[in-house]
Amino acid sequence: YVAKNNGLTHSVYSSEHDPHSVSRLAMISELRHSFQHDELELHYQPKVAISSGELVGVEALLRWPRWNDVSTDYIITTAEQTGLIRPLTQWVIRRALEQHLAWQRLNINLPIAINLSTWNLEHADIDANIGELLDELGVPPEYLELEITENAMLKNPERAQEILQRLSQRGIRLSIDDYGTGFSSLAYLKQMPVREIKIDRSFVSDMLEDENDAVIVRSTIDLAHNLGLKVVAEGVETADIWDMLQILDCDIAQGHYIARPMSAARFTDWLRERAQKRADTHQDSA
Ligand code: C2E
Ligand code: MG
Ligand code: MG
Ligand code: MG
Repeated sequence: YVAKNNGLTHSVYSSEHDPHSVSRLAMISELRHSFQHDELELHYQPKVAISSGELVGVEALLRWPRWNDVSTDYIITTAEQTGLIRPLTQWVIRRALEQHLAWQRLNINLPIAINLSTWNLEHADIDANIGELLDELGVPPEYLELEITENAMLKNPERAQEILQRLSQRGIRLSIDDYGTGFSSLAYLKQMPVREIKIDRSFVSDMLEDENDAVIVRSTIDLAHNLGLKVVAEGVETADIWDMLQILDCDIAQGHYIARPMSAARFTDWLRERAQKRADTHQDSA
């Protein structure tokens, strides 16, 4: 099929941040400054099992409060172009693991997913770095998931496979992000030691209107299951899409219909409200 690119990779919301304008240089130094002054944040979006409604994990997403209108994709591109991506990724992982531990103290045991960029796979010692962080903080590796886009894996497939193999051998879970936006076949990607694929939201959000997208989502779920992979649908925005994904036997959903990415504090409140609601529903049906 024809791959679909949601075109977000280099988009920003304001022409002020045109990659070729002077203010782009200003932005690079702003980003570095914010990073050094600990002004970046992570927000968290739940991943929910479709069959049971159970919360199965959370994805950490980078936020830059001072420049709220700049897309995260663009922040990451900037970090990649300036060499900041490596320390930034270390920070994201540390911050996410610390959050995992903070939730654990509240008896919330959640695997936490973070996103890796293409550039992270250029550093052969990334698995050792991540291993050290896990050891230092005392987090079992199975609580960390790494999301890597199809395109990042395929930039240098042999190298990626080698690095991912080492990460996987440490017990870290790997997942293919934005599946469908590249040109690769799932059979090929299956050579990577991944356990989950995330279908890109551009297919999921249109699947009730666009027959092609529906076919892609349906066949991806079936093929992934035949290959022993779990399937996450990204960008689930309505109850109708949730219902359709349930019919199609999709495993996990993520999207605004369930919750938007939230600050850690807001996430904890959301969990509490949700537990209450679920308890009430069970009582009503009892
Ligand atoms: P992604 O990993 O595919 O993350 C999902 C994106 O979809 C997030 O955008 C999220 O806010 C958005 N989203 C979730 N549910 C819905 C929905 O129902 N509808 C719509 N329209 N959007 C939804 P965000 O936070 O802007 O991040 C964009 C991308 O930036 C991410 O895509 C990821 O590739 C990258 N990114 C984010 N944080 C990090 C990070 O810490 N490190 C790296 N390397 N990349 C990151
Ligand atoms: Mg992701
Ligand atoms: Mg994605
Ligand atoms: Mg994306």
